[in-house]
Amino acid sequence: MIDVIVAGGGPTGVMLAGELRLHGVRVVVLEKDAEPTKIERSLGLHARSVEVMDQRGLLERFHPLGQQYPLRGVFAGIIKPSPDRLDTAHPYLFGIPQTTTDRLLTEHAVEAGAEIRRGCELVGLSQDADGVTVELADGTRLRSRYLVGCDGGRSTVRRLLGVGFPGEPASKEWLLGEVELTASPETVAAVVAEARETHKGFGVGPIGDGVYRAVAPAAGVAEDRTVPPTLDELKHQIREVAGTDFGVHSARWLSRFGDATRLAERYRVGRVLLAGDAAHIHPPMGGQGLNLGIQDAFNLGWKLAAEVDGWAPEGLLDSYQTERHPVAADVLDNTRAQVELTSLEPGPQAARRLMSELMDFEEVTRYLIGKITAIGIRYDFGEGHELLGRRLRDIGLKRGRLYELMHGGRGLLLDQTGRLSVAGWADRVDHVVDVSEELDAPAALLRPDGHVAWVGEDQQDLVGQLPTWFGAPVS
Ligand SMILES: Cc1cc2nc3c(=O)[nH]c(=O)nc-3n(C[C@H](O)[C@H](O)[C@H](O)COP(=O)(O)OP(=O)(O)OC[C@H]3O[C@@H](n4cnc5c(N)ncnc54)[C@H](O)[C@@H]3O)c2cc1C
Repeated sequence: MIDVIVAGGGPTGVMLAGELRLHGVRVVVLEKDAEPTKIERSLGLHARSVEVMDQRGLLERFHPLGQQYPLRGVFAGIIKPSPDRLDTAHPYLFGIPQTTTDRLLTEHAVEAGAEIRRGCELVGLSQDADGVTVELADGTRLRSRYLVGCDGGRSTVRRLLGVGFPGEPASKEWLLGEVELTASPETVAAVVAEARETHKGFGVGPIGDGVYRAVAPAAGVAEDRTVPPTLDELKHQIREVAGTDFGVHSARWLSRFGDATRLAERYRVGRVLLAGDAAHIHPPMGGQGLNLGIQDAFNLGWKLAAEVDGWAPEGLLDSYQTERHPVAADVLDNTRAQVELTSLEPGPQAARRLMSELMDFEEVTRYLIGKITAIGIRYDFGEGHELLGRRLRDIGLKRGRLYELMHGGRGLLLDQTGRLSVAGWADRVDHVVDVSEELDAPAALLRPDGHVAWVGEDQQDLVGQLPTWFGAPVS
């Protein structure tokens, strides 16, 4: 039997498949599209996602294919210098097109042993005490122990589960595409700069080889957003804002997106879970959706693998929702706030001026960057040390770097005392005795996703915490 079926081979689905394979879980990804999409949505990875790639040894694949940009203007486009000493080894925005991210994560999952079946659309599901039965559009039935719906904002899995998706429908829409122009680059740059003074949601910028990425407000909200706009529609909307259409021609692709904001009521129903856009949608302000999905997968992967392997402690799988639902709710709120701050109405403009003043306080900008890049996330593991619940940044050790030791996706006890032991859990937790000038704690227990589960120096205390995350000891 398949252990886990992942519905949807977007970034969330393939990231999850790669994580599950680290633990030997038999995983099949079902992707309805026969070919990868050419539509370029996300343009970058934030610091926490870069760290995630680093923790799994994937950064060498990403770095040559992208570009590092300073972290200015990540909140509502309000430009402020990035504060010094951000709590990350990767204090930059990593520009990389989504199709490249998708490809690299897919290659990693396949190399790790995941099976990806393209042209397979999930249309039905049922579950019982032992597993899930999935039905494909061609009538094929598959059986697995778990199913994860990573099938995007219009998730079929979410609909079939009957999980509510409350929030606000789209009130605005934008047209997006990659096109060629007859106007000179200088003219385009000058006209776009002027238009953006009053239309923040408009942009036409070069992406190389004479191709431009164009975004323009649509005339209304389409009944069916899966139907792409025509080139004439895009031309017309560019002209509406800029007074010229720059001689737009030869579209590589055209698409539309809206500002709907919704959050799934539940992330789990029995043996079926939701992750990525299937669980949450919001406007692309601050570039967070893909990052959020990748980090959902990073949180869920080891927990689901623990269930499949049979060592998951009570409540571990449910902690996926407990931890990730509030994170998504917070992203929805910060995108709602950013959308307001880009409105041209006098009230929001006044709020934007005030926010800009506040962001002159370095701590305010640091806090907002912590939110948008997700390096500021702290899961609620109760009272305790300031690191508890946070992910530990990459730190230098005598033997190298911490993240180099986390590629296998196991727990890790970083022990500066040399007196502790993980006997009984050594099959799930690595014990690293080393010292770091950057760690102000005697020892820290890290979960496979790098979040700090325990800090201390007392063996009995450690033995009391290990079962919470790693289950019963083996003798
Ligand atoms: C204009 C725009 C700009 C954006 N910019 C950014 C950005 O800069 N940074 C950022 O982090 N995010 C950005 N996003 C958001 C980001 O693109 C999404 O959040 C991300 O793609 C979500 O990934 P996913 O894997 O959860 O879902 P998707 O990428 O939607 O993938 C879902 C997959 O499931 C497949 N599928 C659907 N139904 C089925 C089915 N029934 N059976 C099998 N397969 C199915 C689909 O074909 C698809 O391949 C942007 C979005 C837009 C629209």
